[in-house]
Amino acid sequence: MSNTKLGWAGLGNMGTPMVKNLLKAGFEISVYNRTKDKEQEAIEAGATSAASLTALTDISDIILVMVSDDKATQEIFNGEGGLLQGNAAGKLFISVSTISPETSKFINESCKAKGASFIEAPVSGSVKPATDGTLIMLVGGEDADIEKAKPILDVLGKLTVHNGPVGAGAAAKLAINYFLALTLQGLAETVLFARANGISTENILTIVNEGAVGSGITKLKTDPILKNEFPAAFALKHIAKDLRLATEQGINSPLAGPVYNTYKAAMDSGLGEEDLIAVIKYLEK
Ligand code: NAP
Repeated sequence: MSNTKLGWAGLGNMGTPMVKNLLKAGFEISVYNRTKDKEQEAIEAGATSAASLTALTDISDIILVMVSDDKATQEIFNGEGGLLQGNAAGKLFISVSTISPETSKFINESCKAKGASFIEAPVSGSVKPATDGTLIMLVGGEDADIEKAKPILDVLGKLTVHNGPVGAGAAAKLAINYFLALTLQGLAETVLFARANGISTENILTIVNEGAVGSGITKLKTDPILKNEFPAAFALKHIAKDLRLATEQGINSPLAGPVYNTYKAAMDSGLGEEDLIAVIKYLEK
């Protein structure tokens, strides 16, 4: 495809399928993951392993980062041996992780100080849309940089929404994930209430999914609830993090406190590595 060389840091549940889509689209990609063996799947799909984060910057034109949280993002960009210690001038960095607007703005300034550009493009959608290339890209940044990123964003997602300057994409992501947390806690409470009144789990989930309240996410979480198995597509610890960020961002509506407290307590009870719909196991107790 284009001869733009891509770099990618962070090959977790989301990073790996996103990289595989870019490889399929013909991009040349170097990858870096802190835990080296998690690079294997991307390498088998055609990516090259970069020896370090600085090397990743040196050999790439556009570098994308998909890691857990603010702390990981700070370490990846500004830590000892981080991306910005490489030859960053003139390069474009894209953060696709869910992080706070403040951290995103801080990283933007760090990039500018090195003569590099930065946009944020956190994603709406989980592992399936990441695999299918149907994420929604919630972008914040300057038009020219977003235009430059467009061929990449178009492979990763079905839609790009430009929300404003850096920080606005991060804010949009916290808003949509608040809705996700509410929806799935609502689904879990509904199933438990129905069960307590003698309605089978199958029946209540059919009633939800076949009616107007059913949605892509209620359908996606039906199988895990029925099987009572919750391997992480979106780890519960990440939604607890996103709700903490939303709280720090000033959300104080009536359900915000209870929903944050629920996911946080579920995480503290040991469910952090399971999928976020494992909140049903916490609520059941
Ligand atoms: P994940 O599977 O837990 O992977 C996290 C990645 O971050 C791993 O590559 C991990 O490296 C890396 N990492 C964590 N701390 C690091 C550090 N200090 N230094 C370097 N690397 C570090 O997470 P994920 O599900 O892919 O999610 C990634 C981001 O996307 C999160 O911000 C999440 O909120 C967001 N998101 C997730 C979903 C979803 O459904 N999963 C959907 C939308 C957005 P190691 O392998 O070395 O631990």
